[in-house]
Amino acid sequence: MNSINHAATALVVKRFAPGVPFVPLLISVQLIEFIWVGLNLIGVERTQFDADATTIADMHLVHMPFSHSIAFTMLWAAIAWIVVAAVWKQPKWGFAIAVGIMSHIILDALIHVPDVEIIPFLGWPELGTGIYGIPLLALAVELAYGVFVWWIVRGNMTMLIGLCLLNLSSISFYVTAIAGPEVMLAGHPDWLAMFIGGHIVIGLAAVYWIYTRQDNLDPMAAQ
Ligand SMILES: [Zn+2]
Repeated sequence: MNSINHAATALVVKRFAPGVPFVPLLISVQLIEFIWVGLNLIGVERTQFDADATTIADMHLVHMPFSHSIAFTMLWAAIAWIVVAAVWKQPKWGFAIAVGIMSHIILDALIHVPDVEIIPFLGWPELGTGIYGIPLLALAVELAYGVFVWWIVRGNMTMLIGLCLLNLSSISFYVTAIAGPEVMLAGHPDWLAMFIGGHIVIGLAAVYWIYTRQDNLDPMAAQ
């Protein structure tokens, strides 16, 4: 799932856990992506981006056991839950943050080609629907997910338009005929990891701004 939709998922968690501060939720939904960026940059996890890449289908997440496996994501979620419950004495916050962390791997498995391991290093079949192998379908699914978030959160027009435009801003990664940053990133998976790192931060900031434009998500603001 792209950075915008992962970030937007924090709006859904916030809707069902209104008492939890929004910034930790934003970090939670992208926690394993931040881990992925870091591990790619130091060479522990590996990504290939074909030299003639034109779309997301040319990106191959070859090795990402610690950031993007079901088992390790559950471990990160459990650690976050325990730390938040123990250090801040906020078990409900910890649970919502754990849900946010798990949302990432579930959304990725729903759209990736099969590259999400259940338990790494066992050689089991990997999870993924294969939608990222058909970039135009992937773009449609990404847009539909943004609309779904808006609908379930009962967001305003700013949210609907914002999430649609942010999803469309990555269109060059889904449409071969439209050239964008992927042309420069082709053949440079390390640059790709840094680019995605930047995209994560921009997506989180944009969704935070959208959050501040809602009057139904923060019980303190609504009173
Ligand atoms: Zn991911």
